[in-house]
Amino acid sequence: MTLPRPEVDIGRVMAGLEALARASDAEPPAVTRIVYTVADLAGRDQIKGLCADTGLAVREDPIGNTFARWDGSRPDLPAVGTGSHIDAIPHSGRFDGTVGVLGALEAIRALKRDGFRPERSIELILFTAEEPTRFGIGCLGSRALCGALTPEAMTALRDNDGRSLDEVRRDAGFTGDLADVRLREGSYAAFVELHIEQGPILEREGIPIGIVTAIAAPAAIRVTWEGEGGHAGAVLMPGRRDALCAAAEAVLAVEAAALSHGGADSVATTGVCRVHPGAINSIPDRVSLEIDIRDTGLGTRDRVVAAVRRAIDEIAGRRGVRARVEPLNADPPAAMAATVREAIRSACDALGLASRPMISRAYHDALFMARLAPTGMIFIPCRGGISHRPEESSEPGEIARGIAVLAMALARLAGAEGARPGQSIGCR
Ligand SMILES: [Zn+2]
Repeated sequence: MTLPRPEVDIGRVMAGLEALARASDAEPPAVTRIVYTVADLAGRDQIKGLCADTGLAVREDPIGNTFARWDGSRPDLPAVGTGSHIDAIPHSGRFDGTVGVLGALEAIRALKRDGFRPERSIELILFTAEEPTRFGIGCLGSRALCGALTPEAMTALRDNDGRSLDEVRRDAGFTGDLADVRLREGSYAAFVELHIEQGPILEREGIPIGIVTAIAAPAAIRVTWEGEGGHAGAVLMPGRRDALCAAAEAVLAVEAAALSHGGADSVATTGVCRVHPGAINSIPDRVSLEIDIRDTGLGTRDRVVAAVRRAIDEIAGRRGVRARVEPLNADPPAAMAATVREAIRSACDALGLASRPMISRAYHDALFMARLAPTGMIFIPCRGGISHRPEESSEPGEIARGIAVLAMALARLAGAEGARPGQSIGCR
């Protein structure tokens, strides 16, 4: 069996990224594409159109996870999945997630051009709402696919305007029973996600490919502080129960918890602070904070979470305000599968590309796909390690190398038509 030599048409991929970036609610070069908005639906239409042009069979589930299948010679076998997300947080860049979607599509096109015929089907997945912007929970689509988010929990989700997921997804044209989102065990033989690193290591070390070994464990909590409002001029300082002052202490306590109770990999961030009533002449009576805490070790992560909770109780008691803590999620870390890592590594070897093992500190849909199938991730460098900002950037050459590695890894995992069982690609 010969090893495919996929020729990546990077011009087409960059044009696709450019076009997708225009489906946005922000002024270029910034991108804002929140799930189920007009911009998100326009972006999805672009991807579905490209998939159809490539001869892939497209279907959508009741929350808009989108699957585009290239049938293998043995469609009865579990498919090999690949893909990522196209939603983008407010005022971010054009490469996060999108490289993994348009890159997967180009990997399939390149394999087709090369005359490769897979034994297992290869399926591109566009996951709904990887970003937590609208519903406060990250990886909404992949979480639901693997059953980590139940239909009941989905029904309870509300967006920042108080609208239910069920209402908003129906308005966006996604109907059907939420119970049908969950995939059955064994739907995929393997899953591979291509993504920009969102960190500085590959660029700094001049290494084109990162092979992810594990994805760090994220936890998120929302803390609602309730004090007592009043006229900013009339209520004297003694006896005030200012909800924002309590929350401000908590923000610093979050930082201190990561520094004093965590390890070298612990990070803790308060990224959201909503103040009610939000008037200059009114004492804040209600404040909501959203706090994100991560580590590659579950024990260390949970130690930081516990320290944050203790600090919240102490601040609330001392200041006479109420603090209600709601866990938003607390996911375990995911190890990447040896078989998929090996497929990626041998693709790098065949292409003469240096690679290094690395940990993903950001979470990705692969975190949840790892519960359904042996999973791996390919990282490519991004300039300055910058992500979630308009300046986010990867060079065409870097993206092309990532796609070539993805294409060869997919070919190896899917097997070639007519190959002996278990025979792998990579032995040209
Ligand atoms: Zn992403």
